[in-house]
Amino acid sequence: MNLLKPQVNPPLWLLAELTYRCPLQCPYCSNPLDFAKQEQELTTAQWIKVFEQAREMGAVQLGFSGGEPLVRKDLPELIRAARDLGFYTNLITSGIGLTEKKIDAFADAGLDHIQISFQASDETLNAALAGSAKAFQQKLAMAKAVKAHGYPMVLNFVLHRHNIDQIDRIIELSIELEADDVELATCQFYGWAQLNREGLLPTREQIARAEQVVHHYREKMADKGNLANLLFVTPDYYEERPKGCMGGWGAIFLSVTPEGMALPCHSARQLPVEFPSVLEHSLQHIWYESFGFNKYRGFDWMPEPCRSCSEKEKDFGGCRCQAFMLTGNADNADPVCGKSPHHGKILAAREQANCTNMQISELQFRNRANSQLIYRGQPS
Ligand code: SF4
Ligand code: SF4
Repeated sequence: MNLLKPQVNPPLWLLAELTYRCPLQCPYCSNPLDFAKQEQELTTAQWIKVFEQAREMGAVQLGFSGGEPLVRKDLPELIRAARDLGFYTNLITSGIGLTEKKIDAFADAGLDHIQISFQASDETLNAALAGSAKAFQQKLAMAKAVKAHGYPMVLNFVLHRHNIDQIDRIIELSIELEADDVELATCQFYGWAQLNREGLLPTREQIARAEQVVHHYREKMADKGNLANLLFVTPDYYEERPKGCMGGWGAIFLSVTPEGMALPCHSARQLPVEFPSVLEHSLQHIWYESFGFNKYRGFDWMPEPCRSCSEKEKDFGGCRCQAFMLTGNADNADPVCGKSPHHGKILAAREQANCTNMQISELQFRNRANSQLIYRGQPS
C-alpha cells in the first residue's frame, strides 16, 4: 500500500446529468458553453448500470438533473431503478414539461424529493430571464401540484443583480406555495454565468440588503410557527476565503454528464484534465484509480500559498474551476482567497459590479444557437 496516497472514501452523492436539452435559456446556467457539441446521451440501460455501480460503492443519494431531466422519456424507469437500488432520489427541474400525470408516475416509481427552480417572483422578469413567456404560470401550477401530491418541495431561486432586490417578494411567493425549503442561491460563476458575470454579479450593497431581508423573514416565520427553511447562499466573490468546494476533490461527490463522462464536480469538464467515461471504465476504477479523480486529492499537488497554509484542510485551496477560469491555471489558489496573488481579479469584478449598467437584454442566453457560435469560435 502507498502510504503517501490520501485516504479515499466512497462517493456518497451521485448527480446524473441526464441531458443537456432544456426548453429554457437561463443566462446563468452552469452547463458548459459548448453543450450543443454534445449530442450523445447514455441509454436507459447504461444509466442503470451507473446507478448499480455507484450504489455498490456506497453512494446513497441520487440527483436527476440536466439540462431539463423531464425531457428524458425514461425518467420514471430511471427513478424506479434508482429507488429499487435503495437510493434517496431527488429530481432537480425547472418544472417545464411537468404534468400531474408525470408527478403520479414519479410518485409511483418512488421519487423522494422534487426541487423546482424559478427565475423570479413575477411573470415579466421570469419570462425575460428564462426566455419563455409561459414558464412562470407553469411553474406555479406545478409547484402547487407537487405539494398536493405530498412531496417535500424545495424551491430554488438563483439570485443575481436583476432579481435580488425582489427577495422579499420571492420569499412571500415561496411561503404562498408552501415550500418546505427555499434555496436563495446567489449566482455562482461557472458556465454561462461566468460568461455573463458583468451583467449578473450583484453589488455588495445588494447582497447586504438581501441578507437583512432573509434575516427578517426567518424571525417573522419562526414567530408564526412556519418552519420553512430559508437558505441564503452568498457569492464567493464577496468572501475573503474560498469555499471547500464539493467537500474536497473526489471526496463525496460524483457527477456523470449526459454522454457518460465522470467528473468530481459538474463544472470540471472545462478543466484541461482528462476525465474518464463510464462507457470505458467501471465507477470503481474511475473513483479510485483514474488520473482525473486523483489529480487534486490530498495536498501534494498544491503550490504556494496553499501548500504551507494552515487553512488548507478546511478549504482545499478552493475551487479548481474558479482558479482555472480566473488565472488560466487550475493548480493555483482560488483567487477568491485574500492570500492569492490573483485576488485582484475578484476585487476588479466587485468594482465592475459597482459601475456596470448591463441590462438583461444584453446577456448571452443559454441556447443551442449561442452555444454553437461559441464552440465554433464566433462569440455571439
Ligand atoms: S439553469 Fe435554466 S437553462 Fe440551465 S438547465 Fe436549468 S432551466 Fe435549463
Ligand atoms: S492560501 Fe489556499 S489553503 Fe490558504 S486559505 Fe487561501 S485558498 Fe485556502
